[in-house]
Amino acid sequence: MGILAGLLDLALPVECAGCGAAGSAWCARCAAELEGGPVGVRPRVAPGVPVWSTGVFGGARRGAVIALKEHGRRDAAVPLAAALARSITALREAGELDPPELAPLILVPAPSRASAARRRGGDPVLRIATLAAGASPTRHAPARPATDVAPDRAVPALRLRAGARDSVGLGAAARQRNLAGRVTVRRGAVERLSAGSGRGAPGSVHRAPAVVFVDDVVTTGATAAESVRVLANAGVRVCAALVLGHA
Ligand SMILES: [Zn+2]
Repeated sequence: MGILAGLLDLALPVECAGCGAAGSAWCARCAAELEGGPVGVRPRVAPGVPVWSTGVFGGARRGAVIALKEHGRRDAAVPLAAALARSITALREAGELDPPELAPLILVPAPSRASAARRRGGDPVLRIATLAAGASPTRHAPARPATDVAPDRAVPALRLRAGARDSVGLGAAARQRNLAGRVTVRRGAVERLSAGSGRGAPGSVHRAPAVVFVDDVVTTGATAAESVRVLANAGVRVCAALVLGHA
């Protein structure tokens, strides 16, 4: 057992996904960095809904996102999802989002190109959103006989049509042009987004699911704005955007 663990250590040197420090997959310093939040941010391209961030996109946040997206560190999604879930809980406690006993939360990840998702072994933002939805209190709260609110969940409702360039290095106006008409709602997504509403008995006080747009980083706000606009055109009202970090 001990020998096996030692051999595995030799084969797979463990380093922190946030900062690269040796010894653990996620170090205490990076864990501490992800505490706190959320903070309200005002991107240049206003999406028309409140935008919340778990903190500044740098240090452990940036390190973990890059490790996940570019270096195949799928485990880095776990602390990022936990940070997102903590912010969701805080926003619910502050009354910014409906409490779990009133309405489920649906996290809609930012649209990604199918080719990028394939190369990365799955859409990293979807993975984070799925973990964060599962970590929210709805799933773990003791059974309440009176409640029939659906659990929180992540629904990949958006896709990015071919032709959109990677937005790195583009300014706000160029990003908007780059995205115009290329973010689309996936087939069947609207039905999935409204499922869970109206589950209650007649006269139920339960509300429709609260739809929250989720992304790893907000810079100009162009992606969030276009996503919120496209969903609104499909009849889906987004109530907030929540990102891991803001530039
Ligand atoms: Zn670290």
